[in-house]
Amino acid sequence: MVGLLTEYETVIGLEVHVQLQTQSKMFCSCRSDYQAAEANTRVCPVCLGLPGTLPVINRKAVEYTIMTGLALNCRIPGYCKFDRKNYPYPDLMKGYQITQFDMPLAVEGYLELESLVGEGDEAKRRIGITRVHLEEDVAKLQHHLSNSDDTYSLVDVNRSGVPLMEIVSEPDMRSAEEAREYLTTLHAILQYLGVSTANMQDGSFRCDANISIRPKGCEEFGTRSEVKNMNSFRSVYQAIQFEVDRQHQVIESGGRVVQETRGWIEERSVTVSQRSKEQAHDYRYFPEPDLPPLNIDGAWVEELRGFLPELPPHRRERFVSQYSVSDYDARLLTSSKDMADYFENTLERKRQSGTIPAPNLEAFAKSVSNWILGDISRLMNLENGDVASLRFSPDHLFELIGLVEDGSISVTMAKTVLEDAFASGDSPVKIVKEKGYTQISDSASVKTVVAEAIAANPKAVADFMNGKDTATRYLVGQVMKITKGQAKPELVNQLVLESLAELKEKP
Ligand SMILES: [Zn+2]
Repeated sequence: MVGLLTEYETVIGLEVHVQLQTQSKMFCSCRSDYQAAEANTRVCPVCLGLPGTLPVINRKAVEYTIMTGLALNCRIPGYCKFDRKNYPYPDLMKGYQITQFDMPLAVEGYLELESLVGEGDEAKRRIGITRVHLEEDVAKLQHHLSNSDDTYSLVDVNRSGVPLMEIVSEPDMRSAEEAREYLTTLHAILQYLGVSTANMQDGSFRCDANISIRPKGCEEFGTRSEVKNMNSFRSVYQAIQFEVDRQHQVIESGGRVVQETRGWIEERSVTVSQRSKEQAHDYRYFPEPDLPPLNIDGAWVEELRGFLPELPPHRRERFVSQYSVSDYDARLLTSSKDMADYFENTLERKRQSGTIPAPNLEAFAKSVSNWILGDISRLMNLENGDVASLRFSPDHLFELIGLVEDGSISVTMAKTVLEDAFASGDSPVKIVKEKGYTQISDSASVKTVVAEAIAANPKAVADFMNGKDTATRYLVGQVMKITKGQAKPELVNQLVLESLAELKEKP
């Protein structure tokens, strides 16, 4: 009866909270780098919520939010205001949070996803951005749970009042893959803009997902659940997949999905109900009486537009046209600002060295790209590291490629040198010198080894005589083994072929 089963479509909308990298907090002059400080040392009467204090708007936070709105193709209304969202909770010092309710700083934008599958417009998907608004973060609670009576919670007010930007998408995503791609694209844009560290592990970039399913072709939305507590791209992906499966099961077993907030439990890979609609708060929003509404001057917005850095799509196109790297590689290279910078810094080092005429930069760029996307990425993943914390610098990569180009070492040796440099932090030139890595490139020495290999492997020679080409490769491998990888591969290949050809001519 498979044909009778309804086909469902997944509908996902994401809310992303981003801590802004301003020097001071949203409404007071406390420093906002709360993570580096001892608990409750970045506090003042304003962010402690003491009576009689007045908030002052952080101009930089407003500018960062407008810039983010512009980068997300939003309209910046000429007028906006702040509101109070009232709810009692121990992490909320004042008993209300200052946020923006119905007049946010940026509205009606979109984010273009360019999937790595497919090409051109076919691969493009636009995800609507409903709004980008500004609010303040809350204090941090530390729960100390135990089975005895000494269960308690601590409050650290350092985070209270840190500028928080919320980016709300339209329910335009149709799969966990698409949601993940939206997040990684948004994450890259924020890093390019330099408005946030956007570090997910430390909570600078947090995501809530609204998920529902509906019969395919149906216009109306199904009942959604909101999933919280995901602190990596991977957990967002897993939580969405879990939630979609759960809703399918509820509906197919004749039940109804209820509107609720669910939390992702990382250790068990499940979502659990936290709060149903009936328990939802009535926030009693009203305009913040202590802050003036903001008139956003068009000229100011244009000035900020002028400060926007080159964003990923443009940089990708430039990499293709300027350095002739493939579109696919350019997409990978520009997926993180740090990686794209690493690539260009290595090229810059080459330009400065003045060792090559400009047209040859393309060949060099291809090498750089291959190293970054290949072995460097592989080693970085093994260490769980990122480009920003790499000890192997663009200078080192420039050196390494130079050693291969001038024939000092083979590509195989270069890979060993790279691993060594990753572990020790030393420069490739120093490693090659100290460990005595050199390439044997004089014909006479290599020829002796080739003769030795041929004499030791009569079967391979016989195979060659019988027309088996693989025998050549085997003999080349033997020579490389004897020379511990130090013979120049092209030379070995050439000499093996020559020697075999000579043997064949002999009766
Ligand atoms: Zn303060």
